Amino acid sequence: MNNVPVNLSLKAEAASILNRLDVDKAAYTGGNLSSFSPVTGEQTGSLKTVSATEAVQIVDRADVAFRAWRLVPAPKRGELVRLFGEELRAAKADLGRLVSIEAGKIPSEGLGEVQEMIDICDFAVGLSRQLYGLTIATERPGHRMMETWHPLGVIGIISAFNFPIAVWAWNAALALVCGNSVVWKPSEKTPLTALAAQGILERALKRFGDAPANLAQVLIGDRTAGEVLIDHPKVPLVSATGSTRMGREVGPRLAKRFARAILELGGNNGGIVCPSADLDMALRAIAFGAMGTAGQRCTTLRRLFVHESVYDQLVPRLKTAYSSVSVGNPLDGSALVGPLIDKLAFEAMQRAIAKAKTHGGAVHGGERFDAGSADAYYVKPALVEMPAHEGPVLEETFAPILYVLKYSDFHTVLADHNAVGAGLSSSIFTLDMREAERFLAADGSDCGIANVNIGTSGAEIGGAFGGEKETGGGRESGSDAWKAYMRRATNTINYSKALPLAQGVSFIIE
Ligand code: NAD
Repeated sequence: MNNVPVNLSLKAEAASILNRLDVDKAAYTGGNLSSFSPVTGEQTGSLKTVSATEAVQIVDRADVAFRAWRLVPAPKRGELVRLFGEELRAAKADLGRLVSIEAGKIPSEGLGEVQEMIDICDFAVGLSRQLYGLTIATERPGHRMMETWHPLGVIGIISAFNFPIAVWAWNAALALVCGNSVVWKPSEKTPLTALAAQGILERALKRFGDAPANLAQVLIGDRTAGEVLIDHPKVPLVSATGSTRMGREVGPRLAKRFARAILELGGNNGGIVCPSADLDMALRAIAFGAMGTAGQRCTTLRRLFVHESVYDQLVPRLKTAYSSVSVGNPLDGSALVGPLIDKLAFEAMQRAIAKAKTHGGAVHGGERFDAGSADAYYVKPALVEMPAHEGPVLEETFAPILYVLKYSDFHTVLADHNAVGAGLSSSIFTLDMREAERFLAADGSDCGIANVNIGTSGAEIGGAFGGEKETGGGRESGSDAWKAYMRRATNTINYSKALPLAQGVSFIIE
């Protein structure tokens, strides 16, 4: 375990990064929202939040920007996103470091978050020349039927602390090439990173030259700022990433005014280790999936089902990995597991562990350790052997707790795997193609992501990302996720001299 150097001024370092990225100091000093680094607990900034009235005005301005931007040809819109990708490449080291300071990620994960932003920019640039619709056979002679895709409007983006900027980029890059404007409400726990990312986009906008003003704006504030996006009639789509609790509030409010929602909510991800599994490979994947990012990924592995024939080979090795993993200051480059985001996260973890014990769980790890700062929350990841799939196992606790269960029958384990509210990510470790294919089949995993011989976390941007059931059903990032950011029109053109009606309907006026 590494101690945190208490004399490190993360506030000063964050300020110097923000300065290099042209963020005005007034944006993060003297305001009413305090930001903290989970690395030391040190306050890093005090940001001015927007009032509800200001937030409404911001959306109104975004709507004006949308009306101009939708008329810009899509490949030209792609040029803006190409420039954004270039600026991100140039700022990668600074931005990645700021992610580490503000979200507590280890350096490769902080940089990886920025790489995801770069990747989605590349994807969106290509997409800007591929926003195509279908031509569809029509039953009427002398007619043509086709689909066209049009820009939608102001896209509201609400993001969570654990991917403080990548999720915004996933949405913003697609929304912008699709001809929309964006208004982003980042997590109140990671506002400095949001200012930095917005500053980088503004550099690209400056180089682009003639984009409409207010094309991409940020709302600094707590959930009340997000609520303006939820309720504003000029926001036809909100992409909201966060807890299932948040989704339960946001989803019905959007539905009430018939707005679209992309809901990216909590996960309670499971992995199955079968008798034929390559245990060395499984061990590495489980360790990263369950302990990486201190268990604070929506795709973190939380439930592990191990076949009884390999349980005694795998679980002792996992326990050794849990005992030896280096937890500590994510900035010094040697730790693999950084801090929890805050005290609330630590308390939730301890409550879940206590509850697991009442259900007969045998707990290995899970203690907080003194990292030299009373306000930072470093914990040893917890591996909890559970006698049954019940109690806290059924809920997402956003912390590094891995519940391990022994199974004997493949069909029963599939049923248990699916018997939770969330449906985000899943994986199976097997060399038996029947088991692998069953897991991916209609009666297999019920999740939005189902993997074979890789872990539950670390998705690539090329695939559509999202999950089913209480994860919200939204999809963003790759594949055809762009369609959610556009409106589809079906057009039928009559180039004949007659007016035949569909379905043989006759309506003749003399
Ligand atoms: P959170 O729900 O506390 O907050 C997320 C965002 O929603 C914040 O910006 C917050 O201000 C806003 N918000 C909360 N209530 C709101 C409301 N009523 N109206 C409008 N906005 C509101 O989540 P968190 O603690 O920041 O993040 C962790 C959670 O996010 C976990 O459950 C994790 O699984 C989930 N998550 C999901 C995905 C995914 O893609 N499925 C990705 C990342 C995180």
